[in-house]
Amino acid sequence: MSVSNKTRKSSNDIYRLPLTNKKRVVIVGGGFAGLKLAVSLSKTEYQVLLIDQNNFHQFQPLYYQVATAGLEPSAIAFPFRKVFQEMENLHFRLAVAYEVDIGKKVLNTSIGDVRYDYLVLSLGADTNYYGMQNIERYALPMKSVSEALAIRNLVLENYEKAMSTNNDIDASNYMNIVVAGGGPTGVELAGAIAEMRKFVLPKDYPELNFDLMRVVLIEGSGKLLSAMSPRSSAKAARYLKDLDVIVLLNTFVKDFDGQQVYLNDQTVLPARNLIWAAGIKPNRIKGIPEICYHRSGRLEVNEYLVVKDLHGVFALGDMAYMSTEDYPDGHPQVAQTAIQQAKCLAYNLKRHSRGKSLKSFNYRNKGSMATIGRNKAVVDLRGIKFGGFVAWFVWMFVHLFSIIGVKNKMLIFINWAWNYFTYDQSLRLILRSKKVEE
Ligand SMILES: Cc1cc2nc3c(=O)[nH]c(=O)nc-3n(C[C@H](O)[C@H](O)[C@H](O)COP(=O)(O)OP(=O)(O)OC[C@H]3O[C@@H](n4cnc5c(N)ncnc54)[C@H](O)[C@@H]3O)c2cc1C
Repeated sequence: MSVSNKTRKSSNDIYRLPLTNKKRVVIVGGGFAGLKLAVSLSKTEYQVLLIDQNNFHQFQPLYYQVATAGLEPSAIAFPFRKVFQEMENLHFRLAVAYEVDIGKKVLNTSIGDVRYDYLVLSLGADTNYYGMQNIERYALPMKSVSEALAIRNLVLENYEKAMSTNNDIDASNYMNIVVAGGGPTGVELAGAIAEMRKFVLPKDYPELNFDLMRVVLIEGSGKLLSAMSPRSSAKAARYLKDLDVIVLLNTFVKDFDGQQVYLNDQTVLPARNLIWAAGIKPNRIKGIPEICYHRSGRLEVNEYLVVKDLHGVFALGDMAYMSTEDYPDGHPQVAQTAIQQAKCLAYNLKRHSRGKSLKSFNYRNKGSMATIGRNKAVVDLRGIKFGGFVAWFVWMFVHLFSIIGVKNKMLIFINWAWNYFTYDQSLRLILRSKKVEE
């Protein structure tokens, strides 16, 4: 196999990729799945091109700490080019993928067309507003690091506005925070906000009456953390109650006008801050036949992660739907699924290039966990369920271990230690792209 220094320059391919007779794997989306696959295919017989709309990988489980001023965005994001340094068959392009031409094996992107031999779709998922336009317009989603930063900005701006009103009802309206969705994201956010109310905000805004501030968590089903054991779910509810979070179960948000949250039981909650953590929908790409999609919106894949009837096209992570005996409704849309699928596909692509047999994907559930606040977390690990300080410590260790980059690990560790001992995150900056006059 020869690799020349000449670069490709033709109308149906992108510039500056080394000319080679290696088969090309194009990966769309550098999340947990895409990045793991790309790195696992370094030093192989493939030329690998990763395309992402951002030039960095994002660690989604810690978005809520950016939103609540506990971490800087840079601590949970990592540039792809830094990861790919010295991996000569891995290439990155900053681009948005638009459409696939299955027949021609070409992907259309914002920087032009890209030819592929194998295409891997790992575009993840986006916020699902279930068709509620007002909520999409006014609520705050948290599916990217910039959206997490937007939450931090808006919440802090609303506190500044609360300071400039003489009316307690208006002030509490600015201060109240409603979180929709009682999964791990909603629970972790509500807990972190309640801790800010307890330890941080009264010191920053001594003129405000924090008895007026409500933190409300709304969940449509009958329990929080529905994917976890009843015991962990009940424990999480108790921890939130201890932090004075109002938890409303079997309740849905029906509407939001930017000032009041309307619930299905006719309750109206005055709040300017509605954070939407109530659902996701898989991202889509044009050109994939409708028949390939499961009714959940995920792409149906076989046991080798090949998209239904599409030879040479794979889907991984939040986008992929594989029905198995243990998981008839598909695997959980979590980081472990994405990472394990990427490892399986990397293994199979290597075997395939040597003409060897492939192995089917088999998900290993490593357990789940959620933290509710200082010394408070719940962990379900294969039959063992525990909470409190030990669970909180395990949660921190696992997340610290999972984040990419030594510098990021150290930054996060220092931040956490600082927050733990001082009860103060001190990252409460309102960052604006331009001067705002009101
Ligand atoms: C707030 C939050 C907290 C979470 N907490 C946990 C947790 O604690 N534990 C856990 O296991 N899971 C957690 N998850 C779920 C977990 O993050 C996802 O399951 C996982 O990220 C899925 O990986 P993925 O590779 O499929 O997609 P992602 O990691 O979402 O990556 C998708 C990538 O595709 C890129 N992309 C999308 N569209 C395009 C396009 N058209 N062109 C180019 N690039 C594109 C995106 O920029 C992104 O980099 C959380 C999710 C969120 C949102």
